[in-house]
Amino acid sequence: MIKTKNAARTRLSKFGIKPSLHRLAVMEYLMGNYTHPTVDMIFNSLFPSIPTLSKTTVYNTLKLFEEKRAITTVTIDGKNMRYDADITKHAHFQCRKCGAIHDLRIKDEIPVVVDNPENLLLDDCHVYFRGYCEECGKSYVL
Ligand SMILES: [Zn+2]
Ligand SMILES: [Zn+2]
Repeated sequence: MIKTKNAARTRLSKFGIKPSLHRLAVMEYLMGNYTHPTVDMIFNSLFPSIPTLSKTTVYNTLKLFEEKRAITTVTIDGKNMRYDADITKHAHFQCRKCGAIHDLRIKDEIPVVVDNPENLLLDDCHVYFRGYCEECGKSYVL
């Protein structure tokens, strides 16, 4: 826990974010839960121990983190924005049945090679896969 707290503090300062109590708590949660949580999941976990926290604060904090690129967002869900403290390049997989989101390591530096005749400055890329996780795949019938 203390290790995550220090890591959260380091991450905030590295990205020029002032470490308020709420910001630290949200970052600590994300760095301790690599499950791609939603705003609701983060709020519901933190609220019992931080009653001064509101859902709006959590949302605004995540927005700030994203703007500063201290975290990344995952929109694979289609319904809810998911948040990810893992800012290394990786792809995401969502199981069609249980909805769990898994990380997939990317073997090459650039995951997708595209033609770019207009010289667009590309600085972000999201790679999403869908299918069935191992458990759900057992009961999958075509
Ligand atoms: Zn599944
Ligand atoms: Zn991820």
